[in-house]
Amino acid sequence: MHANLIGGQWLAGAGVAVNVNPSDTRDIVGEYAQADPAQARQAVDAASQAFESWSHSTPQQRFDVLDAVGTTLLARRAELGDLLAREEGKTLPEATGEVARAGQIFKFFAGEALRLTGDAVSSVRPGVGVEVTREPIGVVTAITPWNFPIAIPAWKIAPALAYGNTVVFKPAELVPGSAWALAEVLANSGLPAGVFNLVMGRGAVVGPALTEDPRVAAVTFTGSAATGQRLAAAASTRGTKMQLEMGGKNPLVVLDDADLEVAVHCAVQSAFYSTGQRCTAASRLIVTDAIHDRFVAAVVKRLQSLTVADARSVGTDIGPVVDEVQLRIDLDYIASARAEGAHLAFGGEARPSDAQGHPGHYLLPTLFTETHNTMRISREEVFGPVANVIRVRDYAEALAVANDTQFGLSSGICTTSLKHASHFKRHAQAGMVMVNVATAGVDYHVPFGGRKASSHGPREQGRYAAEFYTTVKTAYTAA
Ligand code: NAD
Repeated sequence: MHANLIGGQWLAGAGVAVNVNPSDTRDIVGEYAQADPAQARQAVDAASQAFESWSHSTPQQRFDVLDAVGTTLLARRAELGDLLAREEGKTLPEATGEVARAGQIFKFFAGEALRLTGDAVSSVRPGVGVEVTREPIGVVTAITPWNFPIAIPAWKIAPALAYGNTVVFKPAELVPGSAWALAEVLANSGLPAGVFNLVMGRGAVVGPALTEDPRVAAVTFTGSAATGQRLAAAASTRGTKMQLEMGGKNPLVVLDDADLEVAVHCAVQSAFYSTGQRCTAASRLIVTDAIHDRFVAAVVKRLQSLTVADARSVGTDIGPVVDEVQLRIDLDYIASARAEGAHLAFGGEARPSDAQGHPGHYLLPTLFTETHNTMRISREEVFGPVANVIRVRDYAEALAVANDTQFGLSSGICTTSLKHASHFKRHAQAGMVMVNVATAGVDYHVPFGGRKASSHGPREQGRYAAEFYTTVKTAYTAA
């Protein structure tokens, strides 16, 4: 049984949850402790006791710990990538790449611990000096989703620690394995007890204790819009600092003048890889008239060549859906699109097992054509390997349709026109814009986040992370 980490101790929880491999439901990945609210409060106690000393640790101490964590993750990428693929269902190359990404993020923030600076400013008054500095904020609760089981925790925990905060980490129920492995690496990295704590358990059970405790200074959350909005409503009455990264309904515009190969690659990679379970996945493919039919034919041809199978089998392009609940949601959206008159161009079917007979939650990549932006399939995030093509007349209509959504995370365009690319970069209502590259797939040293219902609060990642994980102090000194 894998225990929770609280105040430097590995503690059994009030219960135990079983982690099942979605590629082969006969395979039990492990058993993981489930905290109750009392144990969650214990983690907040530990983090708040550890804060005084860690907030005054030197940048060198923080660098050493974070750099060591990064080195270990990079060295163990194959082993931890295998675990990640086994519990979440992304393919081995994707999973190994994600672990490496987590390692790079820890190394980046190790450097940021050394680079944090302030300003010395001349006062408007004679004989006074002004300094503007950044200080840690306190206990940070990090709540993460299942679709990036190690990279998202890394991009929350690493900056929180780098800037001198203490952390209580609550991973998603479906992926405790990667979370526990990361906690073990952190526990062995030289961090003082209580600076980092792991609380595995159901969000509804431990969530309030981890987010509503007055000793929690900040909550960083990535997950669904429904959960995020609930947390935001509760936090607004207490003034807890909040950062929310939520869903998407990301458009990929394909114009007549696009390079067809590039457009097909961007669409297939963005919409279907990682089983479409990425907040930055392109799910609305907005295609102008003259290229529409050629584009659809080429995408369908590419989909026919993809292998949907066990995430850890050699040659798998697309692994299973994460669990039975998500598979049912995906199939419900497929049924609803058909009922609204969308044409099923490819896929649409679940498979109870892969070609090797592994029982799992398999779903063929699914493409709809003849859809409109008003259909449910165009309005709501599916979070599966499902995309729909919306035919438009020209660039102006494409841009309008791309922006006609409650979300605003990532927005892409495939075109060889500098004029349209430049205009789109300026006018796409999204936090991230992609020109001739997939909507999913980002760098770790630059800001990540969205607009509208996709995000709330300061950006994550890169130097911009300091905005959330520090608070500014202005000091005046008489000379
Ligand atoms: P979810 O909202 O169901 O769960 C996210 C986390 O919140 C989990 O750890 C869960 O246990 C916890 N939680 C649930 N109820 C809670 C409560 N009452 N209090 C505190 N915590 C609670 O989301 P999910 O299904 O795990 O993830 C999928 C969603 O995440 C999708 O909508 C996707 O778009 C989004 N996502 C967004 C980004 C981004 O950066 N914008 C990145 C990845 C995933």
